[in-house]
Amino acid sequence: MVNALELYDPQIYELVRQERARESGSIRLIPSENYVSRAVMLASGSCLTNKYAEGYPNKRYYEGQQVTDLIEKMAQDRAKKIFKADHANVQPYSGSVANWAAYLALVQPGDTIMGLSLPHGGHLTHGWKVSVTSKVFNSVQYTVNPDTGRFDYNRIEELAKKHKPGIIISGATAYPREIDFEIFGQIAQKVGAYHVSDIAHIAGLVVAGIHKSPVPYADIVSTTTHKTLRGPRGGMLLCKAEHAENVDKAVFPGLQGGPHMHTLTAIAVALAEADTPEFITYAKQIVKNAKVLAEKLLEYGFNLSSGGTDNHLILIDLRNKNISGKKLAKALDRARIVTNYNTTPLDPAHPSNPSGLRMGTPAITTRGMKEPEAEQIAGFINKVVENIDNESVIEEVGKEALLLCSAFPVPDHFIIPNKNSG
Ligand SMILES: *Cc1c(COP(=O)(O)O)cnc(C)c1O
Repeated sequence: MVNALELYDPQIYELVRQERARESGSIRLIPSENYVSRAVMLASGSCLTNKYAEGYPNKRYYEGQQVTDLIEKMAQDRAKKIFKADHANVQPYSGSVANWAAYLALVQPGDTIMGLSLPHGGHLTHGWKVSVTSKVFNSVQYTVNPDTGRFDYNRIEELAKKHKPGIIISGATAYPREIDFEIFGQIAQKVGAYHVSDIAHIAGLVVAGIHKSPVPYADIVSTTTHKTLRGPRGGMLLCKAEHAENVDKAVFPGLQGGPHMHTLTAIAVALAEADTPEFITYAKQIVKNAKVLAEKLLEYGFNLSSGGTDNHLILIDLRNKNISGKKLAKALDRARIVTNYNTTPLDPAHPSNPSGLRMGTPAITTRGMKEPEAEQIAGFINKVVENIDNESVIEEVGKEALLLCSAFPVPDHFIIPNKNSG
């Protein structure tokens, strides 16, 4: 049967088909990527993309909101339930916009924000110098302890006492260890700062109870919806009741116009999927897989930032292997193993050519891969590193990778929410 896209735009149809084949035929180790369920995909590709819904349920600026109001309220309620938060805003277009909204809900342009520096694992929007967040706000950056690759909370507190920021941001984009959000909350309290926690990467682990939730310790929690949470691309804010009005105003009309209702609808579906025992099992397996991958890489003589992982991601410091992160990432991609090159805390190189490689297990875990496969993948990576200039070996690894992929097809996975699970 020919579908509408194929009929109307065969060229784009073919490219979508090629991307689907690429996603299915390669080992996806980018820690911020995942595969959504068929249900999320359907909601995301639904007629809700046609509807403008500026405002919030019962306070819209256009008519015809009989259905959108119900969907958005469901998404809010599901978010509040699984994150145990007073208030949820499910409209941010992405994690970056969600962070902007969190800052603007709490402080003024020109005020000081303090976040983790990008080469040490922070996100651009945490005040890194090329991000507008560092231009609109006065940005102070903390780092990890380069000897341990971990946070030194005393040093972070000292820095906070010195600069008296209006906001302290906890959370990271490349930090392989559990973060103590309670201590961040205490530091913020001591210096009279607000605490914004950005759990874009680990939201799924938080929902599953594997990592401590920042919700009790942060004024606002910001997250993406598409990483370990396994929803469509989007952003979300959770906050205490006292900040609800400011948060909502910061998102709309402060930063955005109409919410992407199709995305919001798919977020509602993903939140229901995350509220299941199956999802908790999934999240636990993500961490088990990451730990096995890390252990095996250590056995092969790789240096890992912080020496291992507590979560879904691993940061390899490649300097002892004399290969740049970029060169290895590109060779791995030719071997059907998709990662990203990244800075590491000790790396003196520029972010455009760093000596680190970042990888994670959320996507392979969605495919059903477990410890034996994680072990096998570590072997693939090592083989590519040992044969970095030998294209025929890299090609051979690519075939083995394809074979592994074929045994774990990209799921049109269904999580059937258990209606009795509360
Ligand atoms: C991915 C990420 C973001 C940004 O999300 P986008 O949806 O790409 O804008 C923000 N903060 C952290 C910590 C992230 O990892």
